[in-house]
Amino acid sequence: MSSLFRSLPSVDACLRWLEESFPSTPHSVLLECSRALLDELREDIRSGRVTDEAALSPSAVKPRLEALVARKDRPRLRRVINGAGVVVHTNLGRSVLAKEAQEAVRIAASGYSNLEFDLETGERGSRISLVEELLCSLTGAEAALVVNNNAAAVLLMLDTLCKGGEVLLSRGQLVEIGGSFRIPDVMERSGATLREVGTTNRTHLADYERALSENTRAVLWVHPSNYRIIGFHSSVPANELADFAHAHQLPMLEDLGSGSLMDFSRWGLHDEPTVPEVLRQGTDVVTFSGDKVLGGPQAGIIVGLKVYVDQMKKNQLLRALRCDKLTLAALEATLRLYRDPETARKAIPTVRRMSMDPAELRRRAEKLAALLSRELDGLAVCSLRDDFSRVGGGSFPEQGMPTTLVCVHPAKGSATHLKMRLLSTEPPVVGRLEGPYFQLDPRTMEDDDFADASRALKEALLRED
Ligand SMILES: *Cc1c(COP(=O)(O)O)cnc(C)c1O
Repeated sequence: MSSLFRSLPSVDACLRWLEESFPSTPHSVLLECSRALLDELREDIRSGRVTDEAALSPSAVKPRLEALVARKDRPRLRRVINGAGVVVHTNLGRSVLAKEAQEAVRIAASGYSNLEFDLETGERGSRISLVEELLCSLTGAEAALVVNNNAAAVLLMLDTLCKGGEVLLSRGQLVEIGGSFRIPDVMERSGATLREVGTTNRTHLADYERALSENTRAVLWVHPSNYRIIGFHSSVPANELADFAHAHQLPMLEDLGSGSLMDFSRWGLHDEPTVPEVLRQGTDVVTFSGDKVLGGPQAGIIVGLKVYVDQMKKNQLLRALRCDKLTLAALEATLRLYRDPETARKAIPTVRRMSMDPAELRRRAEKLAALLSRELDGLAVCSLRDDFSRVGGGSFPEQGMPTTLVCVHPAKGSATHLKMRLLSTEPPVVGRLEGPYFQLDPRTMEDDDFADASRALKEALLRED
């Protein structure tokens, strides 16, 4: 065993090899990797996993060392191909920004800007004013405010308008959405008390009536996100609830979750009111996410009556929740596209993907399948299958969008194995698994992704491990 320890390369020898192959990697990274691998080899000798000097020779150690540096030295946040067909995939970064928004981010990032500087007066300006006018004209609201995400928007709304008092909420809307956002917990943080109304499946106006007290500050409506009650159920329509709130001089507030500025019923997606529709129903303040169906950057957007939004603008909490210039740049550019619905539909990737024609998806699936069949000849068999894509982000949860999947059936090994290997290709590819098939949905892939996905699949199918 001691002769094995003596055969280990020195740290200096490791560094010499690495400095040649990785001339631009910081010395500290090379040193850390060399030490880590030598520690691992010592442990292997001690535990008897390595008993042969050949395993410690430069030709055996060098490739392992190089692989380790390559892995350690690359950025942790990487491009991933989304072949899963979930358009607003929270784990994969939700919305892809429009070209116009990418360009606005580049400009804001690469120089000074009038973020909080009024170019008309030469005095201090407000970062909110950059998008407020646009938000008001697109939604019909009197006032608007933007914070870091919708969770922050809900917190700010409740903290400003309901702190120390009670908020009426139907038990059917006491939801937890992904990433452990729970309405009751956010409510508690805000210092407002939740007053549960009705039952899980049925809530009537009389239930709200009974729950009223002198401590009631607001009526809240929460979009149930990816949760649905089916069967014997009823709830009070939002417009009736708004009338009820107003009759008692209370604001009607709504956490809409994935708010949209576009009516998607033309593309078979129903039953989600747009932000302007929600406001028209009489809701006084609406909050929604910037990076769900809207297709912009992560942000929490608050629109509604000026009397309420102005109070939120004065809340000290806003200082901690405000969003940065890159977000505002991307959001302004995205919202500008909505001034013409057809432009928004074509330019905003999330909206484009939600409104794709099934025939076009079929053609693109055929194109991808033809490419894969050529590239993976002998390694896998490709076929097509009609199925459904999903919107994701808690919107339109029960409604699939017709698509055509490309199914890859590996000649050797299982689809599960292939799926795992595709996580370590460059770029990684995320797809779906269905029995013996690994499936890709062209809806969430750009045509530019096809060649990369094909190379990654070939690499994964050829790899022996
Ligand atoms: C997504 C969602 C949220 C949280 O929004 P983030 O932008 O992720 O903070 C809150 N409420 C509902 C109903 C949602 O769907």
